[in-house]
Amino acid sequence: MITGQTKNFGVIGHPIGHSLSPAMQNAGIQAAGLDCVYIAMPVEEEDLAQAVTGLKTLGFQGFNVTIPHKQAIMPFLDAIDEDARVIGAVNAVAIQDGFMTGYNTDVVGFLQGMHNHGFSPAGKHAVLLGAGGAARAIIWGLIKEGVASLTIGVRNVVKAQAVADYFRPYMQIQVMDWQSWEFRRMLIQSQLLINSTPLGMEPNTLTMPPIDWAAVPAGIFVYDIIYTPAETMFLRMAREHGCQTLNGEDMLVGQGAEAFRIWTGHQLPTEPMAQALRKCLENQ
Ligand code: NAP
Repeated sequence: MITGQTKNFGVIGHPIGHSLSPAMQNAGIQAAGLDCVYIAMPVEEEDLAQAVTGLKTLGFQGFNVTIPHKQAIMPFLDAIDEDARVIGAVNAVAIQDGFMTGYNTDVVGFLQGMHNHGFSPAGKHAVLLGAGGAARAIIWGLIKEGVASLTIGVRNVVKAQAVADYFRPYMQIQVMDWQSWEFRRMLIQSQLLINSTPLGMEPNTLTMPPIDWAAVPAGIFVYDIIYTPAETMFLRMAREHGCQTLNGEDMLVGQGAEAFRIWTGHQLPTEPMAQALRKCLENQ
């Protein structure tokens, strides 16, 4: 029951009506028996400054940040955590005694997915498909975990090279056209293959990155951060090829649980969160 003591959390963005976070977070909060509530709050670009001040004034202990505010919110915060600073995007803000700190919990969410399935990228040869916003969190997560090598395969090498150049102070990353022979050679050596493109996501479920599966070693770990459908064509091909597969559900739940942990110190149970997420997706 919501009372005068209930602590408020939420997500700001625009549009926000499609957000899965309220269902996911409230399921975790309820299962943990906490007196908290999590709501979606539509905030347009021109209202961001007012909204941030308002959330602080209203005594929110934390909130998530989604499109289009992930970068724009940074100047309004008092501090930025290392992951968010390196990635250049904030997806969670903690408010403590009026002091606002920005975090990026996608890194933890991404890594947790693999850890939950007994896989560590440490010392592995990784191949990443795509170099957009989500890829930046993935790249930083892989670097932090001590991946041995990282190759990015894309359709647009020039654009992706800028991303690799950005991370050069931390690691030398190779960028290749994913239809080239040199990329095929990297696939042959890979131990971890990740899709961070939207290819295969609803409603375009019949598409996938142009991977030569004959070059992918059977049994390697294949991770698609898409969570709808639960098994993309890319993951189905990987499974049929004998690979260990993982979709983006753990990442989504993991980033949410990590934000709540930062705000409150409580580790929410992830299974009820995942169940709520699946139910929402079924009803969409
Ligand atoms: P983004 O910033 O738009 O980046 C997408 C990347 O995929 C870019 O490198 C883009 O290449 C490439 N790409 C897009 N369409 C393509 C096409 N038709 N053919 C070839 N390459 C294409 O998107 P994002 O924010 O990184 O998100 C990517 C996916 O990850 C989405 O499906 C999203 O739902 C999912 N995601 C999941 C989670 C999770 O928690 N599980 C979190 C974040 C994102 P160009 O630069 O050439 O356009």
